[in-house]
Amino acid sequence: MCGIVGYIGTKEAYPILIKGLKRLEYRGYDSAGVAVFNGKINLYKHKGKIKELEKFVSAKDIGGTLGIGHTRWATHGEPNDTNAHPHRSMNDLFTLVHNGIIENYADLKKDLIKQGYKFNSDTDTEILVNLVEFFYTREDDIDAETAVRMALTKVVGAYGIAVLCSEEPGTLIAARKGSPLVIGIGSNEYFVASDAAPIVEYTNNVVYMNDYDVAVIKNNKFTLKNLQNNPMSLTIEQLDLNIGELDKGGFDHFMLKEIFEQPKTIEDTFRGRLNPAKSEIVLGGLLDVMPKLAAAERLIIISCGTSWHAGLIGEYLIEEYAKIPVEVEYASEFRYRKPVIRKGDIVLAISQSGETADTLAAVEMAKDAGATILGICNVTGSTLSRVTEAGVYTHAGAEIGVASTKAFSAQVTVLIMLALKLAYVKGEISDKDYKDLIEELAAIPEKLKTILDNNDHIRSIAEKYKDSVNALYLGRGYLFPVALEGALKLKEISYIHAEGYPAGEMKHGPIALIDNNLPVIVVAPQDDYYEKILSNIREVKARRGNVITIVTEGDEKLKELSDDVITIPRSHPVMTPLLTVIPLQLFSYHTALMRGCNVDQPRNLAKSVTVE
Ligand code: GLU
Repeated sequence: MCGIVGYIGTKEAYPILIKGLKRLEYRGYDSAGVAVFNGKINLYKHKGKIKELEKFVSAKDIGGTLGIGHTRWATHGEPNDTNAHPHRSMNDLFTLVHNGIIENYADLKKDLIKQGYKFNSDTDTEILVNLVEFFYTREDDIDAETAVRMALTKVVGAYGIAVLCSEEPGTLIAARKGSPLVIGIGSNEYFVASDAAPIVEYTNNVVYMNDYDVAVIKNNKFTLKNLQNNPMSLTIEQLDLNIGELDKGGFDHFMLKEIFEQPKTIEDTFRGRLNPAKSEIVLGGLLDVMPKLAAAERLIIISCGTSWHAGLIGEYLIEEYAKIPVEVEYASEFRYRKPVIRKGDIVLAISQSGETADTLAAVEMAKDAGATILGICNVTGSTLSRVTEAGVYTHAGAEIGVASTKAFSAQVTVLIMLALKLAYVKGEISDKDYKDLIEELAAIPEKLKTILDNNDHIRSIAEKYKDSVNALYLGRGYLFPVALEGALKLKEISYIHAEGYPAGEMKHGPIALIDNNLPVIVVAPQDDYYEKILSNIREVKARRGNVITIVTEGDEKLKELSDDVITIPRSHPVMTPLLTVIPLQLFSYHTALMRGCNVDQPRNLAKSVTVE
């Protein structure tokens, strides 16, 4: 959440900042701003999207080769011009952009007010920039970076910051705790950004900052220190990001592009890991921990949002095939309740960005309790990938649409491979079943393409139900989490209230909602639950509910019973989450579009939830 960009070098900073902010806009889009050093620091900020900022800045003095920019996702204070970043200190000495939350801002503010400081905004960030100035002006012979370090030692909370000092025209300072920052190293130029997207077109050399690191780029020299001014070692890594992933590639929206990418995504996820010719699954990232994992008495999956739904599918699969007890926890609950974590426990954290604040905090807690920490994430070099003992990258490529689609499919693909591999290592699956399931998974990308061919049909169903106020999603077994995911997708982007339920639970409450205005979307391919879910559908029909079913091709029975039908190719039940989620994603996409919603940047949301 929130995007930060900074530049120092020989080129004009503003175009680099604006382009970078556009690339980071998925992280926050309620207001934006830039500050560029040109003799003095010129600062422009505006409520709304980056486009609004660009309009506002046009024809203004924005020259200079050092600057910082921000796209905000408000935590403290409503989105307006004043609360937008950058924030300036009272005497104009410091200008700062911030991602995160300063938890003790109220106490710090009281102290600063006693020192005569006055504040304009409602943000926690304005307190921090003034705290930096306070130390800078209180001490003699102090430079900007020392003041920043001193201020940060007083801060409780999370921050990624980029800072300019009006008395140091050749200095850019960045620091992080909890919120991600990457430094890009070009030739005679440096970049700071919340992720690699703004950097990749200029350089592939990056340094991922760790918590409590302070990066100082001063007179074309880059040093990394900790808050105590001790030098930290610099590891320069190569970016693993293709710039082509950062545009819409001819689609109207990132979300649609990402939905249509899924056959390729799944192939990318299993490439080099799934080998049907040899009936083999190799998860290189887990090789060393596989014996420990196979011997685990318990696996705890922690995640948030869509990743939590993938985790639930993982639970069903791993318990069924590998016979390891699994618990799936919301990271935000797990980190604060008092869970029992034992030394032999394995914690598997799932996060698309690898920067989800709640998931990272839960990981730290489990680590302190002695658990082995593994991860599934999409972003190479992300914090999660660095704090886990081992893990699997999903290789889904950059996901820009705020509502997750292809990252979910990639996570489920990894979890299917993990469940099957564990079952195999533990001798819980026959060679024949192992081989058959490997072949089934390998065949999924082709099957997905046939579902995507139904896009027009799915659009016509969305047209019919687009004015609904509520929607109910039902599924059983592995498809219960898919029902949850379908409901989440619809509410995220179309703002229709939607609930996902295990179909068997319907009679314990949600059945009261059913009338002839309620669309009930039932994920009902032919699997072990088929007869049961058929009865649930009859119960809905008996109450005049509108039933939309996702069925296996050739299912005449459900066709007759349903108001609308979407078919998927026949496959093994284990693979059905990958197939059935696609129509649900497309249904949400078209519904949202027809309701005039911003599909890629839904209101109030942002991607990469780096605040708790
Ligand atoms: N807490 C800060 C604010 O509300 C920063 C939020 C962000 O990460 O964008 O302005």
